[in-house]
Amino acid sequence: MAEVHLRDSSLHEILNLLDARELVITPSARSAQALRRAFDERQRAAGLRAWEPARVLAWPQWTAALLSELVVAGAEDRLPLSRPQELALWTEVISADEEASNLALSTDSIADLAELAQSAFALAADHGVLDQIRPSATSRDERSFARWAELFRRGCTRRAYLPAALLNRALAEHAQAGALKNHPQLPGTLHLFDLANPSPSQQLLLDALTQLGITLHHHNPTAAEPQLQAWTVCPSERDELDLAARWLRDFLESAARDGRSPTAALIVPSLDTERVALEAVLRSTLAPELNAIAADLSSTPWSFSTGAPLASLPLISCVLDLARWTLGALPVASIGSLLLSPYLGLTAERDAAAVFDFEVLRSAQLLEPELTLHNLLELARSAERKLQKHTPPRTTHAALPSWVNALHDALRREPQLFDLLQHDRLRPRTYAEWMEVVRAIAHAAGWPGDRVLTATEFAATRALDAALDSIATLDAVAAISGDRTKRVSFATALHTLERQLRRTQQQPVASNALVEVLTPNELEGRAFDAVIFLHATDANWPAATRPHPLLSRTLQREAAMPGATPDFALAKARATMAALLAHTPHVLFTCAKENADGHLRPSPLLTSFHLPEHELTDLIAPAAPIAPIPLLDTIDAMELPALPDATLRGGSHLLKLQAACGFLAFAELRLGAAAPETREAGLDPRERGNLMHHVLEAFWREVQTRDALEAFSPAERTGILETLIDDELKHLSTESGWSEAYVDLVRARTLRVLEAWLEHELKRGPFTVLEIETQRELQLGPLKLNVRMDRIEALPEGGIAYVDYKTGKADAKAWDGDRPDEPQLPLYALLAEPGKLRALLYANVRAGKDAAWSGLQTEEDIFPMKRKRVADLATRTEEWRDVLTHLAEDFHAGRAHVDPKAVNINCARCAQRLLCRRDAAALRASDDNGLFDNDGDMDGDFEGGMNA
Ligand code: SF4
Repeated sequence: MAEVHLRDSSLHEILNLLDARELVITPSARSAQALRRAFDERQRAAGLRAWEPARVLAWPQWTAALLSELVVAGAEDRLPLSRPQELALWTEVISADEEASNLALSTDSIADLAELAQSAFALAADHGVLDQIRPSATSRDERSFARWAELFRRGCTRRAYLPAALLNRALAEHAQAGALKNHPQLPGTLHLFDLANPSPSQQLLLDALTQLGITLHHHNPTAAEPQLQAWTVCPSERDELDLAARWLRDFLESAARDGRSPTAALIVPSLDTERVALEAVLRSTLAPELNAIAADLSSTPWSFSTGAPLASLPLISCVLDLARWTLGALPVASIGSLLLSPYLGLTAERDAAAVFDFEVLRSAQLLEPELTLHNLLELARSAERKLQKHTPPRTTHAALPSWVNALHDALRREPQLFDLLQHDRLRPRTYAEWMEVVRAIAHAAGWPGDRVLTATEFAATRALDAALDSIATLDAVAAISGDRTKRVSFATALHTLERQLRRTQQQPVASNALVEVLTPNELEGRAFDAVIFLHATDANWPAATRPHPLLSRTLQREAAMPGATPDFALAKARATMAALLAHTPHVLFTCAKENADGHLRPSPLLTSFHLPEHELTDLIAPAAPIAPIPLLDTIDAMELPALPDATLRGGSHLLKLQAACGFLAFAELRLGAAAPETREAGLDPRERGNLMHHVLEAFWREVQTRDALEAFSPAERTGILETLIDDELKHLSTESGWSEAYVDLVRARTLRVLEAWLEHELKRGPFTVLEIETQRELQLGPLKLNVRMDRIEALPEGGIAYVDYKTGKADAKAWDGDRPDEPQLPLYALLAEPGKLRALLYANVRAGKDAAWSGLQTEEDIFPMKRKRVADLATRTEEWRDVLTHLAEDFHAGRAHVDPKAVNINCARCAQRLLCRRDAAALRASDDNGLFDNDGDMDGDFEGGMNA
C-alpha cells in the first residue's frame, strides 16, 4: 500500500511541482485554468518564449482521460454516455411508465422529470447507495423513481453504456483489477490540489489507487496573514454592488501602485439573476471605456464563472428562429430581428432591410402577427406591386436581404432541405440528419454573417457546433427498449436541441481577468488575495437546501448527502468559510439592511467566526463629487435643411406634434425618426376607423340629405350598408388572406355600429351633405398645408357645419390654449368663409348610447348634444388662427425645443426619448391620457412624414 501525504503548499511550491513535470489534479476546470495561467506567467517572467504546458487536469478531465486510455487498450468496452444521451434514456424510461403522470411532484414536462431523475441517480451513485433506492422508498414518487432507476441500470448494462455517475466507481474497479497499472495519466505520485473533501465515489477511486501503490499528496493552500477580514451592512442590495466594485477597484489600484498584480474574487450567491446588474456596475467602475454600446466585451477586467445560456445569445437564437421558421409561421417581431441580425447575410444590405422592416413588415395587415417564409416573400412582392401602381410612382429603399431568397431557394432546391418544405416534411429522420439540416439552414442564410467575429462570438459558434454534434450522438444510443432504428420528427429534434442550448451556459473565453465573479460553491480549490462576498444574510449563507424529492429522506440522511439536513449545509458553509478566511488576506462580507421583501439579517456565521463589523465609510473613500460639466455656450450656426417645396400632407398632425413638443415634431417629421409599429391580431384601431370612414363616405355620396335617409326603410338602409361594407371588405379576404370567419366578424360589427349611427342621424333636423372627403390647401404662416375634411354640411337656416368622424372619445376642450392637444378641427375652421361656420363637431360614431355629437356651435340645438357648448365661432377662429400660425412658424423655423407640454402625458410612451434624452425617471408611473393613445381617429388623412 502506498502513502497519503497531507500538507499546506504555497502557490510557489505547486508551480515548482509543475516545473518538474508532476501531474496535479484540481477539483474543477476553473481551478485548473487558474493554475495553468499562473504557470504560464512564471514561464513568461523567466524570459521563455515557448514551454510545455503545465500538467494540470481537473478531476472530470482526468477521469475521462483515464477511461479513454482503457477504452483504447480494450480494457473497457462500455460506451461512456454524454449528458444529452443520458437524458434521452431517462426520457425513454419515464415515458414508458404509465404511472409517471400520477406523481405528487409537479414538473412541467417529462424532460424536466428526466433531469430530476438523472440528478437523483447521480447523487445515489456518488454515495454508493444505488442498491438501497428501492428498499428505502416509501412515497409513490420514490417508488416510481426506484422503478425507473432499475430499468435505467438494466438497460445500461444490457447495452453496455456507462453513465457519468458511475465513472469513478468503474475506474476504482479497474484499479482493483490492475488495469490502471502503467497508465500514462497515472504516474507513481499524484498531487491533489485542494481536494481535501473528495466525494464518496472520488474517495473510493483514491483508495483504490493507493492500494495500487500510487502515492497521493494532498496539497492545501497555505494559510495567509489576515489583513482585513470583516463584514459591513449596506443600505440596499444595489449599494452592495456599488461597494463591491469600488472596494475591488481601490484594492487593485493600491496593489498596482506597489507593483503587485493580485487576484480578486466577487462572490455572489444568486449570480444568474444579478448578472446584468453586476456587469453594468463593474463596467462603470472598473472599465468605463467599455460603456460604449459597440464595445467588444470579449476581454474585460472581470470574468464570470459561467456565461448566459447559449440559447439566449443572439448569434445562436437566430439559428433556432430560422430552423423554427422552416416548420411554420414565425412572429413578426422575430422576423424583424432576423432581418436586422448582424449574424445573417451581408452588412451592406442591413439598412434596406431595416427600411423594409419598418415600412412593409410592421405595417402589413395580418390577422395573426406572424408569417411563414413563403408569406414574407409574397408580402415583399405585393409591396413591390403596390409601389409600381402608385401614382405618382413612389420609390423606397426598402428591400429584403438577399439571404431570405437564398434560404427559400435552398429549401426548394437542395435535396437535404427540399423535403422539409414539401410532402416529406413529416418523415422522421435520425438526430444526426436533422442536425445537418440545421447546419444547412444556417449556411443558406449566410450565418454567422460577413463581419469579423469577436472572440466571444467565435466561441459561441464553436459552442453551437458542439451542441449540434452532441445531439447527433443521440443516434448512437438506442432506446433502452431496444429500438435501434429510432427516428424523430424535425420538431422533436429541434426541441431537443433547444433544451440543450438552454441548459448549456456559454463558457467564458480564457482571459487574464483581474476579478473573477463566482458563486460560493465555486470557491473550492481557489485562492485569492482579496474576496468580497455579497448578500451574506441568514437566508443566503448557508444557502437554503432541501432533500432530493425522488430519494427517501432517510437514505439521504444516512448517506450524508448534501441538502439532506440543514446541519449538513451549515457544516459545509462553515468549512468553506474557514478555508476562505485561512487562505485570503482581504475578505469582506456584505449584506443589505433591507430589500423588496423586507428587513434582512446578517448571516450568524459572520459573528460565529468573530469577524468585526466595519462602517462603510471605513472601507471605501467617499466618492469624489461629480464636477458639473459647464454648459457649452456655443451657437449652432448650422442651418436646418430646407423644407420640401411642396404642400405638406397631414397638416393638423404636424401642428399637434409641434404643440406637444417641438423636438418630437422635429424628430418625427424632419428627421423621419419613428418607432416601428407593433402589430396586433386583426385590424388595428386606425384600420377599423378607415373602414367605417370609407363606408360612410360612399353612403352619403349616394344619400346626401336627411330626407333621403328617412325615405329608406330600416331594411333598405341595412341593405345599402351591407353592400358598401362588402365592397370595402373584399380586399381583406383576398389580398390579406384573412379567414372568412374573421371578415364576417368585422362585417357584423361594422354593420351594427353604422345602423345605430344612422338612427342617431335621424334624430336631427334637416341637413344636406355638401362635400365629403374634400381636400383643401391652406396657407398657414410660412407653411402650405394640405388637409382633408370628412364632411361639410349645409344647414337649413344657412351656414355650414364641419364634421369629423371619431370612433373613440373626443372632446372640444382639446382645442383650447396655446398648445392645443387636438388642433385638427380648429385648423379646418380657418377654411370657412367669415361668418359662415355655425358648427364645428366630432361625430362620435359608436354603438348604443355612446353615439353622440360633440363640439362647438353658434346656437343651441343646431345639433342635439348632451353637453351644449355654444361659442362665437368667428372669434374663436381668429384666436385659433394666431395659435396655429405661431405653431407653424415654430415648426418652419426648426424650433425643436425639448419642451413637452405635459411630461407625464407626452413623454410616457414617446418613441423619441432615445433621441431627446429626456430623463425617464422624471416620469410618473402611469398616465392613460397621453398624446399617443390611439383614440380611433377615423381620419386616416395623415399618411406619414412630409412626403408631398
Ligand atoms: S420624450 Fe418628451 S421631451 Fe422627448 S421628444 Fe418625446 S415628448 Fe418631447
